[in-house]
Amino acid sequence: MPEHFEVLIVGSGLAGLTVALHLAGKKKVGLITKRELLDGASNWAQGGIAAVMAKEDSPDAHVADTINAGAGLCDPAVTRMVVERGRDSIAWLIDHGVPFTRDAATGYHLTQEGGHSHRRVVHAADATGHAVQTTLEQRVREDPSITVLEQHMALDLITSAKLGIPGKRVHGIYALDRVSGRVKTIGADSIVLAAGGAGKVYLYTTNPDTATGDGVAIGWRAGCRVANMEFVQFHPTCLYHPHAKSFLISEAVRGEGGLLLLPDGKRFMPEHDPRAELAPRDIVARAIDFEMKKRGLDCVYLDISHKPADFLKSHFPNIYSRCLEFGIDITKQPIPVVPAAHYSCGGVMADLNAATDLDGLYAVGETAFTGLHGANRLASNSLLECLVFGKAAAAHILARAKTKTVQLPQWDESRVTDADEEIVISHNWDELRRFMWDYVGIVRTTKRLERAQHRIQLLKEEINEYYANFKVTSDLLELRNLVTTADLIVGSALLRRESRGLHFSRDYPKSKPKANNTVLQRGRDSLLKIA
Ligand SMILES: Cc1cc2nc3c(=O)[nH]c(=O)nc-3n(C[C@H](O)[C@H](O)[C@H](O)COP(=O)(O)OP(=O)(O)OC[C@H]3O[C@@H](n4cnc5c(N)ncnc54)[C@H](O)[C@@H]3O)c2cc1C
Repeated sequence: MPEHFEVLIVGSGLAGLTVALHLAGKKKVGLITKRELLDGASNWAQGGIAAVMAKEDSPDAHVADTINAGAGLCDPAVTRMVVERGRDSIAWLIDHGVPFTRDAATGYHLTQEGGHSHRRVVHAADATGHAVQTTLEQRVREDPSITVLEQHMALDLITSAKLGIPGKRVHGIYALDRVSGRVKTIGADSIVLAAGGAGKVYLYTTNPDTATGDGVAIGWRAGCRVANMEFVQFHPTCLYHPHAKSFLISEAVRGEGGLLLLPDGKRFMPEHDPRAELAPRDIVARAIDFEMKKRGLDCVYLDISHKPADFLKSHFPNIYSRCLEFGIDITKQPIPVVPAAHYSCGGVMADLNAATDLDGLYAVGETAFTGLHGANRLASNSLLECLVFGKAAAAHILARAKTKTVQLPQWDESRVTDADEEIVISHNWDELRRFMWDYVGIVRTTKRLERAQHRIQLLKEEINEYYANFKVTSDLLELRNLVTTADLIVGSALLRRESRGLHFSRDYPKSKPKANNTVLQRGRDSLLKIA
């Protein structure tokens, strides 16, 4: 008999752990995660969590800032819901013991970030995500009602359609046990996709290796609608070094006077925007992209060495020591940086309860599209979204009637053999990430998008053939998910015939008067369609 849980959560980032802890003691919960519990973007979050805490601040102001950043596409009801639950979400974390940085006068220290009209970002020095995740990890590990399965990678959902039975429901999941190499069948009454984002689809990303779009690809293959995938937020400054994978140089460095320089030491931001280095994130990222492409540069430089060394060491302890590990002393020399894919605003469509198109299936965190971020995410709203929708999903699951368990088939490996050419997978990984960077990056054109679409089609065919003939490995599964995600990003970008928020097209540089979401639904012929 396959293992069965009342609730199965896929992913152990802030979204997954939040759902698990709200269900603790009330349901038999399984939590699978494809590496170790702490692996994921949440553990890497630096800045903090946005919430209205200060007396001078108000929910109206936070709503207005979010909507303003979202360029006409934030869902006002969702935005209000998330903002109004901000303070309680922080209180919940504090109750669990998260050591946020304190302030003698106001209780908790609040920072201000780009796009926020008030100080409202609660943080734990410059490593907020780590403080949150290590605290919640401990709670999850000590709870007897939660079974944690590390090194377990969700592969695909088992739906009524796949079983050939009536209804539009999820019944379970296939998961690859990465240690034994076996694919397990796991049954569940409710399943929560909390598998994070998809930054790894691009050559340069701030995201961890786990961010391969698995949640979106799994939801899509199961028949869920996916929305707004063209809105990929690029962080302007990620450390550029052959051995540094995805290390972000926080915006606060520019906030404190950091200057962006060309290799010859010349500043370039004043030519792009009167706010220079303090222009919004997307404008800075676009300017760096422009200079790099125009001059054929590998990177540009961020220089803050004119500030006193003690100031830098106390304000940016994490950035100072990580750069030093790579031989860069930020108190003495400029930091080589490139823009990098940072956040996916789109995802599996989910309602106010985090419920998707399939009965019993939920999507939370970066995997989900809730309507909060619109066409551009306001900094520090994403961790808040994980907390609010994680709790909402748990509440909805607890209110669901018990469902009937059905017999689930085992994974069939009778017609496949061990892969003979792993090089095909690593080659395709590199090719995909390179052309997504070159053709579907910060500044887009229809011609480049079509070029990318053509290549994706070829990769899809190759991977499907590989998938049908060889035993699955985590690399193959991730590549398959990345290609699906790339297909969704390019398909959405081609459908948006305007520039808005994070999507900038040279062929359609203006915004249309009316803003619409790009909603994709899988057609019978697997083509992308607007719902
Ligand atoms: C460097 C960095 C800094 C950031 N700073 C901030 C910040 O200051 N404030 C803010 O609000 N946001 C920040 N963000 C964004 C924010 O961290 C993420 O949006 C958020 O953490 C997403 O949480 P999540 O739980 O959805 O995903 P994640 O935390 O990425 O967790 C996803 C989990 O799913 C697992 N997983 C993936 N695929 C599978 C699969 N197939 N099977 C099983 N498990 C799977 C992963 O291993 C991981 O455990 C930052 C992001 C980065 C990368």
